[in-house]
Amino acid sequence: MIPCLFHQLTELNCPLCGGQRMVWAILQGHFCEAFHHNPLFFCLIPIIIVSLTLWFANKRMRHRMRIFYSDRALLFYLILLLLWCIIRNIYGI
Ligand SMILES: [Zn+2]
Repeated sequence: MIPCLFHQLTELNCPLCGGQRMVWAILQGHFCEAFHHNPLFFCLIPIIIVSLTLWFANKRMRHRMRIFYSDRALLFYLILLLLWCIIRNIYGI
C-alpha cells in the first residue's frame, strides 16, 4: 500500500485515506470492512461506475452528462471532499 503523504505530514485523514484498503477489502468480498475504511467513496462507487460506463458507452449520453462535469459540478465535488475531510477528522471516521 502506498502511504498517504497528507496523513504522514499532518496525522489527519485526507478525503481519500482508506481508499486503497477499501478497494482491497472489496476485492476480497469484505464489503462491511470496505465501508469502514472510507464510507463516502464506498457509497460513491456505484455512481462512479454507472457514470463512467455511460460516459464511455454512449456518445449521446456523454453530451447529456456535461452537467456532471461542469465548473459548478467541479466546485460541488471540491466542497464535498473538503466537508468530508473535516467531518471524518472531527468524528474520527
Ligand atoms: Zn490520505
